[in-house]
Amino acid sequence: MRSLFTCCVLLTSFFLASCVVLSAQSGSTKFEKSGGTQTPAYPEIISWWQQLDQQSGKVRMLSMGMTDAGFPLHLVIISENGDSDFEAVRKRNKRIILINNGIHPGEPDGIDASMLLARDIVAKKYTLPANIVLAIIPVYNIGGCLNRSADYRVDQNGPEEFGFRGNSQNLDLNRDFIKADSRDARAFTEIFQLLNPDVFVDNHVSNGADYQHVMTLITSQHNKLGEVMGEFMHNQFEPALFTIMKDKGYDLAPYVNFWGGSKVEDGWQEFWDSPRYGSGYAALWNCFSFIPETHMLKPYLQRVQSTYALMQSFIEFTSANSEKIRDTRERARQATMAASSFPVKWMADKEKFRKITFRGYESGSRISNVSGLPRLYYDRTKPFVMDIPFYDGYKSTGSVTAPKAYIIPQGWWKVIELLRLNKVSMRSFRADTTIEVEVYHIDEYKSAPRPYEGHHPNTDVKLHTTVEKVTYRKGDYYIPMNQPANRFLVETLEPQAEDSYFSWNFFDGILGQKEGYSAYAFEDIAADYLKSQPAIREGLEKRRAADSSFAKSASAQLNYVYQQSKWFEPSYLRYPVTRVVK
Ligand SMILES: [Zn+2]
Repeated sequence: MRSLFTCCVLLTSFFLASCVVLSAQSGSTKFEKSGGTQTPAYPEIISWWQQLDQQSGKVRMLSMGMTDAGFPLHLVIISENGDSDFEAVRKRNKRIILINNGIHPGEPDGIDASMLLARDIVAKKYTLPANIVLAIIPVYNIGGCLNRSADYRVDQNGPEEFGFRGNSQNLDLNRDFIKADSRDARAFTEIFQLLNPDVFVDNHVSNGADYQHVMTLITSQHNKLGEVMGEFMHNQFEPALFTIMKDKGYDLAPYVNFWGGSKVEDGWQEFWDSPRYGSGYAALWNCFSFIPETHMLKPYLQRVQSTYALMQSFIEFTSANSEKIRDTRERARQATMAASSFPVKWMADKEKFRKITFRGYESGSRISNVSGLPRLYYDRTKPFVMDIPFYDGYKSTGSVTAPKAYIIPQGWWKVIELLRLNKVSMRSFRADTTIEVEVYHIDEYKSAPRPYEGHHPNTDVKLHTTVEKVTYRKGDYYIPMNQPANRFLVETLEPQAEDSYFSWNFFDGILGQKEGYSAYAFEDIAADYLKSQPAIREGLEKRRAADSSFAKSASAQLNYVYQQSKWFEPSYLRYPVTRVVK
């Protein structure tokens, strides 16, 4: 009943919104009409974009995949001639910039800034360069956007009301890009794979320390982008954004990844965007990806204006460097397809830093009126400008040799479905086939004791490898490692990788033993068996001699014999995705 009621209310408000919000000709937005203090509700946002689509041949709004909220994800394409055929767009040598908004709808800056940007393009107040196609997701987290309140985000300076971080399943979509538990993430993946964007921008609002900067920026960590793209990102793209923004009147700072501890003036380590995050996911596909983070204590008007300016900066740099971006991406794509090994583990490089100009506020400690204990405060009457170290290097601490192919049995269809969604090229065996493969066996792992985003992630994975001849069934999948998805495949299919499907519990079935025995019945069978198995018998005696508690435990000894025997199930802790290396 409740959902039906909500639905009726929504529909009614949707049509009301269409009439009230927009005098279509002016194209002014709720944000503007409110003097920069309000952001529109979901139905208002979509009806506004629908009207812009109707008004202008440059704008097309497409309905894409379904989301958990029961509404399709919308995608707005803005280009010179309104072309939304992406194959044709690429053939015409245009660069595609994908802008994602409202992944955290309590941070709606991008929602409003994108509306202003599109409106200004249509009104010819801002010229979209002919070599750029803008693809805008007006609101990604629709469920969160519908869940609106004035009270979420207690320490954010506006707008008056906004949405909630969790989606319709209360998931944080900015952790869902690999595991894709939400329909939202699946719809996004389809969009991303369809577009293959050159640049990806995911608009956010930050919390954390106080400082003068209105806009901060997470640039996808450059070391993990590989030599070709990483160098261009680090030495050209990112510095140019700082310069362009400066010209527009904004002192951009790298995202202030500082959470207490020592003083912010001592610098901080660059944010690590692993593939679970939007920028980390995009980076797997050789896409230049960024997460703008406006500062939560700045007035909403300023935050939206700076988001607008930063989106212009992306457009201007991408347009001016169109050929370089295309070539760099293509070289990176070729390198990915040909690479013989891939890094899967990283750590912060404490030696590598560069100096940045940071505009902060002096901080100190005083007595809290809540607890009577010392508390941190920032003194806005004492601004400072200081060159501080920004630790922006990461180094690889472990890599894997790329196999010739992976094989995944068809039973693991949830993973296969995600691979397919990511346009991974694979073929199924036409007949039962025996192949020599490398098999991983999980020796150790830790599972998070409490759930994180609907999972108990497995970490600290240690494994050993055996080489075996395995017979695969007709319909099992062979995934050649000669494709643009190579990096994605390694990051998702190698169990030690931070955001692998093993880590996200897709293979937890192998972590539990399925068969066992009744001790009284197995006792006699085991005793007989040991007579014909001197090696196992010797192992048992050695273990008894070395371990007194083992020597005192009948059940531990019986279980030892079982685990060494032919009756023990081979699938236990045996990772089902195997590696073809010959
Ligand atoms: Zn956010």
